Amino acid sequence: MKDEVGARKPAVVLLSGGLDSATTAAIAQHEGFDLSALSIDYGQRHHFELAAARRVAQSLGIRRHVVLTVDLRPLGGSALTSAIEVPKDRDAATMQAEIPITYVPARNTIFLSLALGYAEVLGAADLFFGVNAVDYSGYPDCRPEFVAAFEKLANLATKAGVEGRLRFRIHTPLVHLTKAEIIRRGTALGVDYSWTHSCYDPDPSGLSCGRCDSCLLRLRGFAEAGLVDPVRYRD
Ligand SMILES: [Zn+2]
Repeated sequence: MKDEVGARKPAVVLLSGGLDSATTAAIAQHEGFDLSALSIDYGQRHHFELAAARRVAQSLGIRRHVVLTVDLRPLGGSALTSAIEVPKDRDAATMQAEIPITYVPARNTIFLSLALGYAEVLGAADLFFGVNAVDYSGYPDCRPEFVAAFEKLANLATKAGVEGRLRFRIHTPLVHLTKAEIIRRGTALGVDYSWTHSCYDPDPSGLSCGRCDSCLLRLRGFAEAGLVDPVRYRD
């Protein structure tokens, strides 16, 4: 996307290293945005995600990639930031019905706030966020109504918004897609999903468990898309 003088418009993408955010970044680039990436080291159980985020940024040719450390472990309350066991083998109906212990309290509000700050500094009105409300774990901060409320807040909460210099927009190109549709879209745009990491509970060598919500949704998505997941799983 170009503005009046023909320069590419700046945008910020939140890059977790997972499949959804990699696809979102590829979509933003395809739409012509000059992309900067933000990843958050929040004290997640393992660092494979952040390594994946670096791989994705590099592979997509994103030149500005900030990795910010905001340690959420002292707050606890989640299987992703403390020694609580990650739930395994939940079926699709349970995922839709219960918010699991892998929910990190207010995580997406925190992450979007950080991305908003970065965007304001860069003069970027556009934020890309790879949430999905179809094949997901039922997290409340993945839903369209959350994103709409945050977009309203972004324009009230910032100097650039209040002065009218930037009209912030939160783009969630995946929000209504199934996992299979996301994978097909990313594949068409040249995303190689071996760059990404989704598992909540990998072994020490980084092999995915194949049984947490994130693995199950990913595996089902690849199966429905008729493609093979290039990520390696424990037998
Ligand atoms: Zn897993």
